[in-house]
Amino acid sequence: MAKIDLPKIDKLVKAKEFEEFSYPIVLSLAKKVVENERQKAISNLTYKDEDEIIEEIVKQYKEYENLELKPLINATGVVIHTNLGRSVINPEILSRANKTICSYSNLEYNIKEGKRGNRYDYTGFLCSNLFNSEDAIITNNNASAVFLVLNTFAKDKEVVVSRGELVEIGGSFRVPEVMANSGAILKEVGTTNKTNINDYENAINEKTAMLMKVHQSNFSIEGFSENATIEDVSSLAKKSETLSYYDLGSGYLNELPYSLSKQEPPVDKILKSSVDLVSFSGDKLFGSVQCGIILGKKELIAKLRKNQLLRMLRVDKVTLSLLNETIKAYINKEFHLIQTQNQINKDLDELTDMANLVKSNIDSWCKVIQTKTFVGGGTLPCKSYPSIALAFKGNPQKLEFEFRQKGVIGRIENEKFLLDFRSIMDENLKDLIEICKEILE
Ligand SMILES: *Cc1c(COP(=O)(O)O)cnc(C)c1O
Repeated sequence: MAKIDLPKIDKLVKAKEFEEFSYPIVLSLAKKVVENERQKAISNLTYKDEDEIIEEIVKQYKEYENLELKPLINATGVVIHTNLGRSVINPEILSRANKTICSYSNLEYNIKEGKRGNRYDYTGFLCSNLFNSEDAIITNNNASAVFLVLNTFAKDKEVVVSRGELVEIGGSFRVPEVMANSGAILKEVGTTNKTNINDYENAINEKTAMLMKVHQSNFSIEGFSENATIEDVSSLAKKSETLSYYDLGSGYLNELPYSLSKQEPPVDKILKSSVDLVSFSGDKLFGSVQCGIILGKKELIAKLRKNQLLRMLRVDKVTLSLLNETIKAYINKEFHLIQTQNQINKDLDELTDMANLVKSNIDSWCKVIQTKTFVGGGTLPCKSYPSIALAFKGNPQKLEFEFRQKGVIGRIENEKFLLDFRSIMDENLKDLIEICKEILE
């Protein structure tokens, strides 16, 4: 057998190619790569020489770097992009929250009485101020909010839901399955396109615990369709001594521009329907951190607090501090601190100025165009609204790939690669110009 000629690990890891890399990671990759080559050598297969091994380690290191959680420029036009982290936290909100995150706090301590306190009391107070709800509780996300509500009030009992609202949100959140796992029994009523309040009424029996509405989120039924309103469902629940619950998906406050809010009332309006409980995501239109916000009657929230499951679904001080600061910003009308709302509210002149600034800094052929985009995150389905983009000359697939490798996620439309400014933040512009120059020149 010929002598196996492989580099020594301790010498290999000192190669100048690795100078900028993390030493422990280079070391573990080097051991793996060399061992792999040794196996090939033992089996009399051709194996890599030292230069090729270094090249392989660099390649694997780069792949590892791509996995790292890091900032990207969202040029897809979709402001609430679930794959890109949904809502962005404003640095001012983060710095206000920092004070409690980086310190001991009264997270579960009652200062007045000097004993154990309740994690959600202050947030409940803030929510009642902002939404006019009696109380609130916060869970890890809206999926767990739905689970907690169903498990608390409808375990082994029936929950009436319209067949038009048995949705899958994506990422395997399917209403019928969540319901089955929570122990609640699904009672479907109506049809895919039409459900009226009589369908709910006819389904009520002694096993009924709850009438539930689910926001359709990422689809809509057009044409011959009808759904019972939350007002009708809430008053039927009252009359039949059951509970009403609305899984809103994406709750928001204030007006949305471009008539986006036409058929989607804000949270405070929905609460006026006297619905018993609503829940929504903290990081969709509300524009805060990932969490589930459950609002409702005081005695119902108290029951949720007593459910053992809450211990598993509870949020950390990091989440709670960021959420509290967002709610305070809303209360104090500091709307400029809600980045998601800012992006959606930007007018076309502002977006055009951004696009022109980038264009004026690059020589390559590109054109400022008007386009349309979606809000995203399963909110406001099928409702597009206007945006401004830069459309580039050249192979769109190739450009999409090259921009993506540099951390800019764009989109392809009509065989052109686009950077859509609806979702690009002002803070991104300098980096974006640099990246455009690198790729196009
Ligand atoms: C998004 C959504 C959920 C899931 O919320 P997460 O915060 O992503 O867990 C549940 N229900 C509806 C209707 C939704 O739109």
